[in-house]
Amino acid sequence: MSRINVLILGSTGSIGTQALEIIRANPEVFRVAGLSAHSNTGLLAEQIEEFQPDVAVITSAGRLKKLKSGLNGAVGKTELLEGYDELLGLCTSLNYDILLNALVGFSGFVPTVKALHAGKKVALANKESLVVGGELLAGYTVNGIKDLIPVDSEHSAILQCLIGEEQNPIEKLLITASGGPFRTWSADKMKDITVEDALKHPNWNMGSKITIDSATMMNKGLEIIEAFWLYNLPLDKIEAVVHPQSIIHSMVTFADGSTKAQMGYPDMKVPIQYALTWPRRITLDTPRMDFAELSSLTFEPVDYQRFPCLRLALEAIEAGGFSPAILNAANEVAVHRFLNKDISYIRIPEIVSGCLEEISTPDVLGVDTLKAIDEETRQRAARA
Ligand code: NDP
Ligand code: MG
Repeated sequence: MSRINVLILGSTGSIGTQALEIIRANPEVFRVAGLSAHSNTGLLAEQIEEFQPDVAVITSAGRLKKLKSGLNGAVGKTELLEGYDELLGLCTSLNYDILLNALVGFSGFVPTVKALHAGKKVALANKESLVVGGELLAGYTVNGIKDLIPVDSEHSAILQCLIGEEQNPIEKLLITASGGPFRTWSADKMKDITVEDALKHPNWNMGSKITIDSATMMNKGLEIIEAFWLYNLPLDKIEAVVHPQSIIHSMVTFADGSTKAQMGYPDMKVPIQYALTWPRRITLDTPRMDFAELSSLTFEPVDYQRFPCLRLALEAIEAGGFSPAILNAANEVAVHRFLNKDISYIRIPEIVSGCLEEISTPDVLGVDTLKAIDEETRQRAARA
């Protein structure tokens, strides 16, 4: 069988580097067609030397020179490009089989649109693509699999639970949440949360934006929106449940009351590899479940009072239209400001809520109007 040619956008991030570990372990299965990084020229140079892609893009302006000097002339056959427009161009012009979209935030949205329009398959880690533009992308997904294959562990779990169930009515999707580092903190204690506290995720080691989203539980809200568009179910059939061990990655209950769960120790390589090889499975060297050692699996309801971001996300998807895009842009800016110690943790939902209330939206939902609303919301959230 011919190798799978993968274009990895965001190759220097947490998901991108884990994808390259999978590719390194399976050179007979995968080939790297292209890579992109934003600022990390040193790591991108190492990746180019090792994987010899056809093309590599550095998106942050003015860094191409640094990338070239880091390569010491060892470019091989790789074409080197600079800028976000070049990244967008690659999504349509490069010869590849699947795009792994591991960009963070709104920067991932237009690449997803471009790749799907060009008839490519997309392994989607960038959940923000579906949060912002789910309505535009919904046509490309049937139960999460037509051209858009989820990488997010919860949505991968649901996809795996749904195999063979195409004709069967679904009663509920149960999206598990670790609860993040503040699951047991009182509302009073949460007023003094520091960046360092919020970056300590109990179960997963991820990029900084999603780690803060997990701490505020905005991440679970974004995931409910993601599931809504991937699996085409009404919102009252999609529920979050706290499961602190992160062993069950999500569940599906069917009309006969039977519930299927997908399990494993937390390791993003499992859903990343599955999205790249779907519907096949190949060997992955990851710790196997030891049920004798595992003492208990516990569950709790989510707390919307202490985690208002989750409630705001549900309100945004219920409102529909541009609201999820406003939620996303305001959250990105607020998280960035929190990471820079410019605002406190409890200001994050306040800024998001202020933007949702104040920004008026155009009539027609499209890529250009979504870009305009994203920009306007960013400006408002940066001033707040
Ligand atoms: P990281 O922050 O670790 O990596 C982000 C990648 O995108 C880096 O390669 C970065 O380049 C690049 N990048 C950052 N900003 C821009 C920009 N403006 N334009 C172009 N490229 C940019 O993120 P993660 O890997 O953690 O997350 C990626 C996506 O996957 C997110 O949507 C996240 O929600 C989702 N996800 C992540 C999980 C995880 O375990 N990490 C789990 C489930 C979903 P550079 O580093 O060179 O600046
Ligand atoms: Mg997830």
